[in-house]
Amino acid sequence: MKILAIGRNYAEHIKELNNERPDEPVIFSKPDTALLRDNAPFHYPDFSKDVHYEVEILLRIDKEGKNIEPRFAPKYYREIGVGIDFTARDLQQKAKEKGLPWDIAKGFNGSAPVSGFVPLSDYPDLRNLNFSLKVNGEYRQQGNTSLMLFDFDYLVAYVSRFFTLKKGDILFTGTPKGVGPVQVGDQLEAFIEDKKMLEFEVR
Ligand code: MG
Repeated sequence: MKILAIGRNYAEHIKELNNERPDEPVIFSKPDTALLRDNAPFHYPDFSKDVHYEVEILLRIDKEGKNIEPRFAPKYYREIGVGIDFTARDLQQKAKEKGLPWDIAKGFNGSAPVSGFVPLSDYPDLRNLNFSLKVNGEYRQQGNTSLMLFDFDYLVAYVSRFFTLKKGDILFTGTPKGVGPVQVGDQLEAFIEDKKMLEFEVR
């Protein structure tokens, strides 16, 4: 399986990092070794001093496809979840300054904790979905999918132009505003609407 991720998909988050608003989705990927499942703890890496959380809605691809048209995209995903796109912001900043790839800043071991997945049918309006992150019991990020620059169908169609999607692939759909650093000992909880989907500790 592969993990594809979208950067800069929420305007307020683009502003907080002083990034440019993209004309098309910004895509990057994480290797399968980035995955953390079953609420496994996240181990703070020794190569960074500024690891940030980014809570994101996940789509799980249900069917192989490439060059998918947006109107057919709903046939390719049937389940959603929530995950954290951990980012070594210090390494990413260095890479950005030099125009180098982000891979080590975004794809390092354990940088993709993911929840279990639930059927889309649990959520009738995907364009108005609340999701959030609490750190040590306090809200740090509260997003709504109505604020995405590119919606789920567009994203699935767009990424499939470059990468054949396969059953089991996971798409991170971008983070809302409020990103910030984690520290050893932090307890993270991620929600879709009021349902807690993911909970783990930073060690
Ligand atoms: Mg992200």
